[in-house]
Amino acid sequence: MNAPYYINLRETSDEKALDDLLERQRNFFSTYKTKDVDFRRRALRRLGDATRSAEDEIVAALERDLGKSRFEAYVSEIGVTLDDLRFIEKRTKKWSKPKRVRTPIAHFPAKSAIYPEPYGVSLIIAPWNYPFQLALSPLVGALAAGNTAIVKPSEIAPATAEVIARLAADTFDEEHVAVVRGGVEVSKALLERRHDHIFFTGGTRVGRIVMERASKHLTPVTLELGGKSPAIIDESAKIETSARRLAWGKLLNAGQTCVAPDYALVHERIADSFVKALGAAFDSFVPGDDWREDYPKIVSDSHFERLRALAEEGETLYGGAIDEERRQIQPTLLGGVPEEATIMREEIFGPLLPVVPVADLDEAIGRVNAKGKPLALYYFGENAANRDRVLRETSFGGGCVNDTIVHLATSRLPFGGVGESGMGDYHGEASFRAFSHYRSVLRKSTLLDLPLRYPPYTAKKLSWIKRVIG
Ligand code: NAD
Repeated sequence: MNAPYYINLRETSDEKALDDLLERQRNFFSTYKTKDVDFRRRALRRLGDATRSAEDEIVAALERDLGKSRFEAYVSEIGVTLDDLRFIEKRTKKWSKPKRVRTPIAHFPAKSAIYPEPYGVSLIIAPWNYPFQLALSPLVGALAAGNTAIVKPSEIAPATAEVIARLAADTFDEEHVAVVRGGVEVSKALLERRHDHIFFTGGTRVGRIVMERASKHLTPVTLELGGKSPAIIDESAKIETSARRLAWGKLLNAGQTCVAPDYALVHERIADSFVKALGAAFDSFVPGDDWREDYPKIVSDSHFERLRALAEEGETLYGGAIDEERRQIQPTLLGGVPEEATIMREEIFGPLLPVVPVADLDEAIGRVNAKGKPLALYYFGENAANRDRVLRETSFGGGCVNDTIVHLATSRLPFGGVGESGMGDYHGEASFRAFSHYRSVLRKSTLLDLPLRYPPYTAKKLSWIKRVIG
């Protein structure tokens, strides 16, 4: 790897600098300082303070990288991170304590407890779409659990990556938290090295690469991946409210959201009125000629061109306008999209929404299950039996009933995928767990040493044992 890259604010092209960084983090971890709960909580509070102080800088960087408005930047990146940080910081002490559990009578006299311990040096690789939140939220978990961390933000959101590097450099010693900035080559170079845990957020293709590289050192991984998240609109749905909430979920970050509703399966009897209501919702959010204002751009030319080609695969039912110069695409509803079209096979990751009329719930469930397990699923409807059927007969990372996306904005719900959409979860206590190993320890008393389990194995001993276990 000869390309220059950055460790915090220092430019280098020396790959050995990564070895040095890892060694320093490993040595620091070996001092046991991060095992001290007060140290962890102070680190979290400092991270929170630094984030609050850098709010303007973060907002400006997100505006530069993705055209996010201050409102969107705060709600979906800064605010949600701070909220989870506060929740976790308050409970770190409690979660760090050994948890006593009962001991079976067969082991009498003994006590049992589960001791959480940090993995050690953690590697966090982040994507570009929520470049601040998706780098910082895992970091919160890593610090709470007592790890050191190397954060690799996305090179596709460079302004935000730089702010994160400055924030880390101002707040932590490199041996505790360091930000390594660079592209795919840097990511690969990091993955060649041994870490004690890898937390990856990104696409399914790269997720496979990460897991393969991690297998070399048997490093545990958390994979937060993507997929095609369906919205099922039951005949019983409240049309206006459902349309508004679905449209909002698609509008956020111009559809460049891992849990954005990817396609809508709408009961055919309400399909026309639902499309009208979706159009009306978009009109009220990003009206007429003003649709470009306060509305994010597509991250790169290649993504823009990809989306432009996908939009050709169906009949435009709403929207369809583009602004090439500003790289913006109006929220667009597509009809008549064949199932074999690329837009129905690949994650869209943009403001295009295919609307697929379905005859009944069987068809909707069948279509969902014909694809890989999605990161999210949204059911809209007032029919509880249908809702329960959808929950029972489909598998997905997480989701909402009668809403979109908000299931990840609560620290009390773990967030993660399943199957092709990932493994492991985080947010709230799940973040602490993701970065912890749970050691089981049975503490036996030496006051008594029952001979029952020792050879010679007699029939009498076995009959006694059968009375206790089995
Ligand atoms: P990506 O997989 O292309 O890149 C993510 C990170 O991996 C970046 O830091 C990048 O530098 C690195 N990377 C890219 N190629 C690599 C390679 N060959 N080897 C090693 N590292 C490599 O993802 P992206 O385009 O940044 O983000 C979009 C994807 O992320 C979408 O699929 C989306 O659904 C998913 N995503 C998932 C979540 C979630 O929480 N589950 C959140 C946001 C995004």
